[in-house]
Amino acid sequence: MRVGFIGLGKMGAPMAQNLAAAGYDVRGFDAATAAPASVKDSQSIKQALQDCSFVLTMLPDGQTLSAVISEALAHLANDTIVIDCSTVDVATTRRTAQLLTAAGHHPLDAPVSGGTAGAVAGTLTFMVGGEDSTVCKATPLLEAMGSRVFHCGGSGSGQAAKICNNMILGISMIATCEAFTLADALGLDRKALFDVVSASSGQSWSMTTYCPVPGIGPNTPADNDYRPGFATNLMLKDLGLSQQAARSAGATTPLGAHAQELYAQFSETTETDMDFSAILMMLAKGAKPTGGR
Ligand code: NAD
Repeated sequence: MRVGFIGLGKMGAPMAQNLAAAGYDVRGFDAATAAPASVKDSQSIKQALQDCSFVLTMLPDGQTLSAVISEALAHLANDTIVIDCSTVDVATTRRTAQLLTAAGHHPLDAPVSGGTAGAVAGTLTFMVGGEDSTVCKATPLLEAMGSRVFHCGGSGSGQAAKICNNMILGISMIATCEAFTLADALGLDRKALFDVVSASSGQSWSMTTYCPVPGIGPNTPADNDYRPGFATNLMLKDLGLSQQAARSAGATTPLGAHAQELYAQFSETTETDMDFSAILMMLAKGAKPTGGR
């Protein structure tokens, strides 16, 4: 089965390679880089999409997705299933899905969690929005790149689930870092805090699985000078998407808004490819108060 793959960056390249390893005939196109081994390199979007039953996109943002889809529309074979795995705003996802549906195609939004390590290992989690029948047809292909596929509802629901999850993650990481900062100030041993919270009502993934302090608990980016990991700039992007969605839907998310402010402040003072748990360093030094607080 032929698959066109647009966007072969840190995530897209290993995902396309996993599809090829599962036996799909993958044609890849990227504006800046050549396709990895096992993926047939195309010189244009048009060439990559020729005679494909499935098209995947893994792009930086909604603006790029809109531009790629408007170019792709002229070249898609009839009845193509078009799966966007990028993290983009819900409004752009719904708008591109309408364009694709009106042209007789079958769109899905399928953003991922699991990072570059999950993309390489083929263990990503997909959060999928779209029609049931399309999700059924796409599931074997998604399972070639990931270990879990959640069908969250209609178009845009995958993106909605992704930004809600990452808003919790940003807030809970800040809460965990604040707890370590307070523990340090009170002379409480960091390992004692980790052990108590991991077994108590303050428990979270940010504490127990992804502890922001080195030398405690499982191996995390903190144990490797906060690299590699889930980059601060990607956390800031996802918090921005959640606030944009909250404003347009009329939802009240004050902690999400404050987390976005703190990550914006952190990204001004650090290298933004550092893991987002490195915000511990800024909080330990004392974050500047933000507007109105
Ligand atoms: P990346 O910047 O490494 O890759 C994006 C690729 O898209 C680049 O290679 C770029 O050249 C290409 N591109 C840009 N414009 C294009 C165009 N018009 N036509 C063709 N190709 C074009 O980014 P990434 O880390 O692979 O992330 C991709 C998406 O996945 C983002 O939306 C990101 O938020 C999301 N995501 C990333 C991670 C992660 O850990 N990196 C985790 C989860 C989700």
